[in-house]
Amino acid sequence: RRQRELATAFEPAITTDGHRIEVVANISNAEEGAKSVKFGGEGVGLLRSELVFMERDSAPDEDEQTAIYSAAARALEGRPLIIRTLDVGGDKPLPYLPIPHEENPFLGERGIRLGFDRPEILRTQFRAILRASEAGKVRIMFPMIARLEEWHMAKQMLEEERQSLGVAPIEAGIMVEVPSTAVMAEQFAREVDFFSVGTNDLTQYTLAMDRGHPKLAPYADALSPGVLGLIGMAARAANKYGKWCGVCGGVAGDPQAVPILIGLGVKELSVSAPTIPSVKAQIRTLSLADCQRLAEQALAADTAEAVRELVPLTED
Ligand code: PEP
Ligand code: MG
Repeated sequence: RRQRELATAFEPAITTDGHRIEVVANISNAEEGAKSVKFGGEGVGLLRSELVFMERDSAPDEDEQTAIYSAAARALEGRPLIIRTLDVGGDKPLPYLPIPHEENPFLGERGIRLGFDRPEILRTQFRAILRASEAGKVRIMFPMIARLEEWHMAKQMLEEERQSLGVAPIEAGIMVEVPSTAVMAEQFAREVDFFSVGTNDLTQYTLAMDRGHPKLAPYADALSPGVLGLIGMAARAANKYGKWCGVCGGVAGDPQAVPILIGLGVKELSVSAPTIPSVKAQIRTLSLADCQRLAEQALAADTAEAVRELVPLTED
C-alpha cells in the first residue's frame, strides 16, 4: 500500500467528483521543506517559526531570519509557504524571552499576545518575512487570534513594516484555534486571506482540556461534535467570502478525520511530510458529496466515539 501511495504522491489530490484538495506540510526549517516536496507536498501550510527561535540561545536578528525564511521559500521551488509568526508561551517556553509567572500559561501571554507585548520582536519578524517573500510565494499567518482587534493590530503593524521596506503586499491569514474566532468566523472571513484551523489548540480550548494532559488525552478528541461544529463554522464562512480554510492541527492527517473535514468545506490539509502520500491517496477515493453527507452526520452525532464509528478504517 505504501508503495502505491508513494508512486502517485506527485499527482494532485482530486476527489472522485472533481474537487481538488491541497495537501501541504507542517515544517520548521528549509530541510523539512525540501523533504516535503519529495513526499509530494504542494507547499507548506504551517512553518512553526518558534522552532527557529527555540533551537538557539538568543533571538535571530532580521538578517538571520530573512536568510532562514528565504531558504525555506527556495526549497519549495515556487510552491506556497505559510510562515506563522512566533507562537511561544503556553507549552512552548523560550528561555531568553521570559514571561512573568502565570497561573494559567495556556490562557496567558502566548502567540500573538506576546508579540504585542514585545512589538520589536514581532516587527523584526514581519520585516524578515516580507523580505523573504522576494524568494518565493510567502504568506504570513498569526497564531492565537481571539479577537478581531488583534487581527487589525497585527495587520496594521505588518502594513507599516511593508511600507517602510517598500515591498509588495503578501497574503495574510490567521490560525483558528480559539473558539471565539470560529464563532466570529464571518467577521474574520471578510478581511483575512485565509484560515488555518489549529485543531490541537481548538480542541484544548473548546473542551477545556489541557492538550498535553495524560489522563484527559483519550477525551480531547478533535472529532468531538462540538469541535467539528466550530471547524464547520470557519470553513463555511471562508467559502462564503471567497477565501479558503485549511486545517494544520494533528487531526488533518488522521484518516478518520480527512473525509469529515473535506465534507465540512476544508480545502487544504497540512500534515507531517511522510503523511502526505497517504492523505492524497485517500482523497482520491472520496467524493465531496459523500463527505458532505458524512459531515452532516458527524455534526449531529452525540459523541466523538460515535463520529469515529461513522468512518471505518480500511486495512488494505
Ligand atoms: C494547533 O494548535 O493545532 C497548531 C497547529 O498549532 P500548534 O500545535 O503549534 O500550537
Ligand atoms: Mg496552536
